[in-house]
Amino acid sequence: MRERVAIVGAGVSGLTCGVLLAERGYRAAIFAEEVGQHTTSAVAAAIWYPYDAEPVDAVIAWALATYIVLVELSGDSQTGVSMIEQRALSRTGEIQIPVWATKLGGRRLQSNVATGLRPIPHRALRGGGNDGIPAGFTSGFSLNVPLMDTTIYLDYLAKRFARAGGEIRVARCDSLEDLSSDFALIVNCSGVGAKMLAHDVAVEPHRGQVAIVPKIDLPYAVVCDDPPLMYAIPRAHDCVFGGSNELSDNRNVDLADTARIIAECSRTLNIAPPKPIAQRVGLRPFRKSGVRV
Ligand SMILES: Cc1cc2nc3c(=O)[nH]c(=O)nc-3n(C[C@H](O)[C@H](O)[C@H](O)COP(=O)(O)OP(=O)(O)OC[C@H]3O[C@@H](n4cnc5c(N)ncnc54)[C@H](O)[C@@H]3O)c2cc1C
Repeated sequence: MRERVAIVGAGVSGLTCGVLLAERGYRAAIFAEEVGQHTTSAVAAAIWYPYDAEPVDAVIAWALATYIVLVELSGDSQTGVSMIEQRALSRTGEIQIPVWATKLGGRRLQSNVATGLRPIPHRALRGGGNDGIPAGFTSGFSLNVPLMDTTIYLDYLAKRFARAGGEIRVARCDSLEDLSSDFALIVNCSGVGAKMLAHDVAVEPHRGQVAIVPKIDLPYAVVCDDPPLMYAIPRAHDCVFGGSNELSDNRNVDLADTARIIAECSRTLNIAPPKPIAQRVGLRPFRKSGVRV
């Protein structure tokens, strides 16, 4: 048995660190104020894609390493990870396909007459003259990516952590120093909480809101990062409509945001606006000068 390790936070970062450390023989304990579906991680859509994280080059390298692990996990239905086709769209001009995306098989969406791409089976995204590019959008590309259904994936990680001997304590931690006498190592995975816990003014809350709507017949995810941010991510039992991204620590649902999100997604998909099953807000941890370990 190796040293005792404390991890602060039970979002996807804390649980993943917990699993890796506990499975390598460390005596790991997670301390978290909020767990499971109460974390920002549970609000995430959560599709694999480098977005809103710095420094970009390092993030892409980390994301590609994560991609490999998630592809492996997608082979086990218990994990909540699956592979999905993501269609990234632009409202202005020709979308740039990043080099890393081309290496992963990213391909431009064009008329299937010109490219021989398979016809779009779903009526929702026909329009604008180009298959796969709905009216109001000018270009796009398609890429197969992992999708984590957070209603399953966070539980999967928590169970794996417990099986490896890890322990989760639901408790607020007011100071990392308080833990230092009992643990050889402390891993700070407190998300936006790090602003307070690590006295780090560079940590910013990037508020995001989503609307969960009933399952719709959509065979791929649709994402547009141009303002207004828009995405529709079909999951096993429902569909996540988004989104928003603003500098704010307000965790209350904004009904005007929900109305705008549902209107934009429905317009893109060419469907009648569905009634939301749930509306969720999370605070993405962001740090302009980069992730800090
Ligand atoms: C609407 C929305 C959509 C998103 N979509 C995607 C997506 O499609 N793909 C993607 O990759 N990412 C997405 N994200 C971003 C993603 O959710 C976050 O990057 C990720 O969840 C951060 O995980 P985390 O474990 O670092 O933090 P969190 O999930 O925020 O967890 C932080 C943990 O620390 C705990 N904590 C904080 N302070 C303390 C304290 N003082 N004491 C004890 N515990 C504390 C919290 O209680 C919690 O358990 C999205 C985010 C939002 C809001």
